Amino acid sequence: MILIFDIGGTKMRLAVSKNSKTILRSKIVGTPESFKDGITLFKETAKELSKGEKIDKCVGCIAGLLDKKGEKIINSPNKKEWSGKPLKNSLEKAIGVPVKILNDTVAAGLGEAVFGKGKRFNIVAYLTVSTGVGGARIAYKNIGKGLIGFEPGHQIIAPEGLFCGCRGKGHLEAYISGTAFQNRYGRDAENIKDPKIWNEAAQNLAVGLNNVIVFWTPDVIILGGSMMLGKSHISIPLVKDYLKKMETIFPKIPPIIKASLGDETGLYGALAYLKANRLSEKTRADLHS
Ligand SMILES: [Zn+2]
Repeated sequence: MILIFDIGGTKMRLAVSKNSKTILRSKIVGTPESFKDGITLFKETAKELSKGEKIDKCVGCIAGLLDKKGEKIINSPNKKEWSGKPLKNSLEKAIGVPVKILNDTVAAGLGEAVFGKGKRFNIVAYLTVSTGVGGARIAYKNIGKGLIGFEPGHQIIAPEGLFCGCRGKGHLEAYISGTAFQNRYGRDAENIKDPKIWNEAAQNLAVGLNNVIVFWTPDVIILGGSMMLGKSHISIPLVKDYLKKMETIFPKIPPIIKASLGDETGLYGALAYLKANRLSEKTRADLHS
């Protein structure tokens, strides 16, 4: 039995699968503030979901920047107490099998590339525009070896522009994220109806996507996150119109489509990772030594 997980800032999703393709059972629990409580809850939930069956493999993802070995989160954006803690080691001790941890945005991109709208394409650029802006390049259903993540949200679109949450200047995230809308207009994005604001966001996203296209040469761009999928959102047709005017290098812009896997995209990313990679047996041996 395979255990997959997605540890987010507010919720943890755990699920089990038997065939690496479909989810058999899943459960959502609140993410504890304390790392120790988090590991205990993870263990209990895994036990409940596996119903006494042996867990053979475990892959999942977490929000935040992972260290190069994928063993701990260097910087957890929502759960400060989890930063720097030995996540991989603690999860392995809790469930007794090797655990592979991915960055949640990379996992979401992988999920879309393998199980979602990216299925038919070789090179998938996935961008999520939500509280922040993140993304991943998935080539041939795989992520780069040793890769810790991408940061397309922190590309500069205006050198003397607005300050970003990371203290950089003129980053894409400072213009089109939910946080940016809150800072600039004093309201949640879903309560903003002014077409001028959304029009400007579409233009700024197009600048970001132009850079994504020239650097990543994607066959398709998949856009997820509340700023793309929410009730009030950035219009994809408008983004395409701006991009068509900007893009002069490639004969045509790739298809730009909405993400389709919703909240389970991280879990599907974990399954997709398993499909493409064999988990290290060495880790398993180490665990029992
Ligand atoms: Zn930034």
